[in-house]
Formats: sequence, structure tokens, C-alpha cells
Amino acid sequence: MENTTKKASVKRRKKKNTAAAVAIQSIKVLFTFLLSLFLIIVITGCIFVTVLTIYVLNFADTNDTIALDKAVSATSSVSKFLCDNPDYDPEDPESDAYILYYAVTNHARRAQWVDLSDVPTYTQDAFIAAEDERFMEHDGVDFKRTFGAIVYTLLGRTQGGSTITMQTIKNITGEDDRTGAKGIERKIKEIFRAINVEKTYTKDDILQSYLNIIGLGDGWQDIVGVQAAANYYFGKDITQLDIAESASIAAITNNPVYYNPINNLEHNQERAHWILGKMLEIGAITDGEYEYAMNEELVITGDPDFRSREDTDENIADSEGMTSWFMDEAIDEAVTRIAVDRGITEEEARTDLYNGGYIVHTSCDLDMQKKIEKEMTDKTNFQSWNLPEDELQSTFICIDLQGNVKAIVGKRDEKTEWDEFDIATDGTRPPGSCIKPIASYGPALEQDLITYSSIIKDEPIEILDENGEKMKWPVNYSETGSSSMWSYNNYFVWQMLARSINTAPAQLINKMTPAYSYNFLKEKLDITTLVDTDINYSAVTVGGMTYGTHLKELVGAYMIFGNGGKKYEVTFVDRITTVNGDTIYEKSDGYKQAISESTAYVMNKMMQRVVNESYGTGRYARLSNTVIAAKTGTSSEWKDLSFVAVSPDYVSGVWVGYDEQKQIPTTQYQNIGAIWKNIFGDIAETEKHHDFTAPATVVEARYCTKTGLIAGDRCTSTEVGYYKQTNIPETCTGNHY
Ligand SMILES: [Zn+2]
Repeated sequence: MENTTKKASVKRRKKKNTAAAVAIQSIKVLFTFLLSLFLIIVITGCIFVTVLTIYVLNFADTNDTIALDKAVSATSSVSKFLCDNPDYDPEDPESDAYILYYAVTNHARRAQWVDLSDVPTYTQDAFIAAEDERFMEHDGVDFKRTFGAIVYTLLGRTQGGSTITMQTIKNITGEDDRTGAKGIERKIKEIFRAINVEKTYTKDDILQSYLNIIGLGDGWQDIVGVQAAANYYFGKDITQLDIAESASIAAITNNPVYYNPINNLEHNQERAHWILGKMLEIGAITDGEYEYAMNEELVITGDPDFRSREDTDENIADSEGMTSWFMDEAIDEAVTRIAVDRGITEEEARTDLYNGGYIVHTSCDLDMQKKIEKEMTDKTNFQSWNLPEDELQSTFICIDLQGNVKAIVGKRDEKTEWDEFDIATDGTRPPGSCIKPIASYGPALEQDLITYSSIIKDEPIEILDENGEKMKWPVNYSETGSSSMWSYNNYFVWQMLARSINTAPAQLINKMTPAYSYNFLKEKLDITTLVDTDINYSAVTVGGMTYGTHLKELVGAYMIFGNGGKKYEVTFVDRITTVNGDTIYEKSDGYKQAISESTAYVMNKMMQRVVNESYGTGRYARLSNTVIAAKTGTSSEWKDLSFVAVSPDYVSGVWVGYDEQKQIPTTQYQNIGAIWKNIFGDIAETEKHHDFTAPATVVEARYCTKTGLIAGDRCTSTEVGYYKQTNIPETCTGNHY
């Protein structure tokens, strides 16, 4: 029994011992577990901190800051088209350019800049209450929320946690890697940038940027900034927004589609009411204001045709309406340049441009553009023909001698549409004799086939007609509207040009071949409208081309006679930058040397006589002080008249005719020069004598009017001529007493 008891006792004790051991064991295990867990946490924490430190040291530039100066983001600012401002004030950074046009369309992104002083205080407070209630106190980072955000980011989830400062930076940089290591890296960058931005800018600066670039769209309309949102959702200017409306707009930010008042008013109001509560809590509104706002029934307009205050500014009167003739072209060119730079289609580039973020510097001379627009609509400028009830159509373009278009008017009619048909750029018209300087005289002089005073007989060449029969060609046109046979008289080259006699260029083309001239026009002078069927005498001698030329290209080709033979690309856009200041396109200052400097100058001198001779076809264009070199052009059957003039500053041209081609009923075709002068004379004319500069490669010498050779001792009748230094005629040895 005792044994049994003992045994049992032992057993019990054993049992007791075992129980205690188990307990101790459990505690040990638990302790070990807790210790391990603690160590794991510490080690993980250390690794985390180390990794964080490495990230900070490696990836975050602690001096990294962001400029809020222009306070616009690459994805939120309206694209602008600028032009030079003649009243440029170096002290005023805003004065460097006129704003020609804001690229905003009804169905594109809307973003309207507004100064913070125009944003009601309670609207500002609504955003602060909703997004960052400690905004006014913190130094750019709200560490409590930021740590939470980092943990969430590591877990592959996203969470707000960004201060208004950080959100502003995110919107400006467009950097938005959300999860994992990249997310952490961005957050850390953002922290340093936020701290730096707060050192550089005031809270007002930051809030102003934030309110202007925050995305507030509804998933259909892309609305950027509070002004555009006030316009779009409530049909109001930001200054007229009330407290409830402010809370409604502030509510959108968290999730623009879910909280949108147009499609999800219930969700929007739920959050707006929470924001109103916050506003009351932080003392932004009174109890009375809170009560009133909570009970207000919002009127959502969702106005798709809203206009803002800024649209009434005359500078951007065209923003949502039609553009000027110049802007039509500048927009098209900007689209092409953006497409090339971005490697996207033109359609995508157009959307991109209208989505915002581009600053396009154009070559427009706004004063000139306005003046030409006015002159083109003035009937009296076209009345030299005394054509009753008869409206001539016309187009005009002015380009500087480096190919920058300064002004363009596509038609005489009032412009009523976007991207309207522009005769100068979209239309093709036969250039007539305006083709001669660039297709025959210029290349022939370049090849030394002629000099200024070479003598050419007014006689036809023989070509094959359509049936393969030999025919004498071409007839001459008289400027009174009849065709005349050949005089077989001798003329100097410059006289042939000034009288616009057709036989001389025909003879020159005969020597060079039509194909040579065709290639010269196409390759050296960028005439793009030429087609294979234009490799013929008519096309390159008298401009009887299959399609004709765009006036823009014809005038552009003439720049070579004013700038020493250089053919620059004709452009409307100088430079395109992003709002962040990156240049994505800049016009090259490269050119093709189409003809030599000396050829260009001698041609210029010959073309001056078109204007200066009493019988010159361009005589009515003559100016008092400014020297011009020009050529008239009449197409067959007098359906088109063109005039292209080079001055020391510009190359400009005008075309007149009818939309549906028919003969211009007049006997005074030379009046095309007068029309050019009516439109452009005031601009081209200068107060003092204004002439081209002679290059050293050209020699001025008297020639014998009997032989066209350099005058000798016995030549009694002489005149001044201009010669390429490399091709001076022999001296006349005749006895011309
Ligand atoms: Zn002589």
C-alpha cells in the first residue's frame, strides 16, 4: 500500500514535475519565440532602414528640387503658340512673347490658370481639409502619414499619405511609380523634393500650383485645376464658387471617376459632407456655414461649351473659335514636328498638342499679319482694273530671307472656319512667268550660259508638238492681253526678263534641257508640286505645269535672290518646348546653297529692272526708298496673275484670279504690281534708302550697249552691268564712234 502510495506519490510527483517542466518548457519556447520574433523584427527593421538608407544615398539627390515658377506640369498646362513681341522688355519675363493662341478645344483637356488671390479662401480650405489638414504647419512632409504610406507601398498597395506639397511635385514631374522598390524610391525622392520646395517657396506658391494642376476630370472631359473645374461642373468662374461647391470639387481628387459629381453625385456628396465636417473641425467655416452648405442642393451644369474669364481677353479671342490663317499653318507644322520628335502619328500628335504641355514659338509678325489681313479685305486695293461687281480672289504671303513666314492670308474672304482652305499653302496655281528667274535665268546664269548683258534674239525654238510634229515655240504674251509673234530683235538678258519675253527662257531651257530645270526646282528649291509630266518645255519655261505651284513654295524659292543663293526651309514654327523647358524641336539654321552668291546678286540686279524700267512689267510696284527685285507672272489665257518681290528684308508674293479659273477681263495685267504695293508697300517701304549689299564676288562694270561686252575705249554707248567675278565678258574691241 505504502509502496503503492509511494509509487503513486512518486508518480504524482513525477507527474507534478513533468507538468512543471512542461510549463517551464512552454515558457522557454514562448520566450525563444518572442526573442526570435523580436530579433526578426529588429533585423528586418535594420535591413529596412539600411535599404532605405542605401536608397536615400544612391537614388535620392538631397538637393533635388522642382521649379514651381511656371507652376505647370507637362501633362496639365494648355499648349500655347507665341510670337515675338516688338515691345520686348528684358526686365519683364512675361514680355518676351505675345500669346497668339491657346490650343484648347471643346473636347480636349481644359486647364485655365488662376491666381491664388482669385480662389476663395474656403475653396483653398476645402482642399486642405480633404487632402492635407496639417499643410500650413508641416515642412512639406507629414511623417506620420508618409510612414504609413511607405508601409502600404511595400505591401503593394497604394494609399494617399502625400501632402499637398508632395502631390504638387508628383503632378509636375509626372513620376508615378506606385508600388515596390520603385514606389519607395519615388516616395523618397518626393520627400526630399518636398522639403526643398518648402524651403524655396511660400505655402501660397505651393497651394497655387497645386490648385492649378490637380486633375479634376470626370473620365470623359479632362479637367485640370480648380478654375476649369468651377467652369465645367458649375458653369461658374472660380471667384463665384460657394462653400458647398468648393467641397464638391475638393471631393473629386481622391478618385476622380468614383467621386465625380456628374456621374456619381451620391459618392461625391458623401465625401463632400465629410470634407465640410473637416472644414468645421479645423475652423475654416462656421457652424452656420456648415449647416447651410450641408443642406445646399448643387446645380451641376457639366457645361461642355464653357468659357472662362480669360477667353474674353483679346489675345486669345480665337482660342475656342477659328484660328488665323497663320495659326492654321503653325498648328499643322507643330503637329508634324511633335509627331517626328515623339515617334507618333500626326493624329496622336494633334491630340497630344491639344492635351497640353507645349509652348510653340512661331515666326509670326503679329502687326504685319493684322495689317495684311486688313489690306486683303479692303476692296479698293484690288480696284485697279475697274472690275464692277467682280470680286477677284487673292492670296498673300511674306517670308523673311531665312525662310521664316511672317504673315499669310489664304483668301480674301472673311475667315469662317478652322483650318480653312488656304490658296497659298493648299492651293496650286500656274506661276506663269514667275517661274523664269528660278527655272531658266537663274540656273543659266549659274552655269555661265549668260551674263547680265548677253544678247539674245527674240526668236522661237523648235519643239515637237503632241503629234510629234516640229513646231515653233513659244509665242510671246503682250501685257495688254494679246499674244504676239516674234520680233527677231536682239535684247540684253535683263531686258528679256524685264519685258517678260518668252523666247529667251525657251532658248536657255533648250540648252539646259527641261529635265535639268525640273530637277533644279524640285531638289534645290523645294517645289513639291512638280510631277513627272512637268519635265517639258512649257512647265519650266512659262510655268505651264500640271498642277502649278503653292504660292508659299514659289515665294519661298525667291529667297535665294535676296540672301546670297541660300534656300532655307520655309517654316511657321521656330521652336517647340515643353512647359518644363525641354526643347523638342528647333529650326535648323542649315540651308542649301541653291546658286552661288554672285549668281544670286546678278539675278537680283536684273530683277530690279522688272520694277525700275518704264516698260518693266512690275513697274507699278516701285517703292520710293526700298529697292526691290521682282517678277510678274501671267498664266495662259490670263487666268492667274502672280507677283513675287524680294526686298532687303523680305520675300513676298501675291496671287490674284478666281476660285473657278477664268480669264481676268482687263487689258492692264501689269497692275498686279500695284496690288502687291497696295497690300505690302507700307511694310516694305523704308524711310531711308534701303538696298541689297553687293558681295565681293560680283564686279560692277560698264558694258557696250552695241555688243553686250565690257566697254572698250572706243565704245560710245555704255551702261552699268553686274558680273560674276568668275565670268566677266571680254572687252569690246569694236569701233563704236
Ligand atoms: Zn563696243
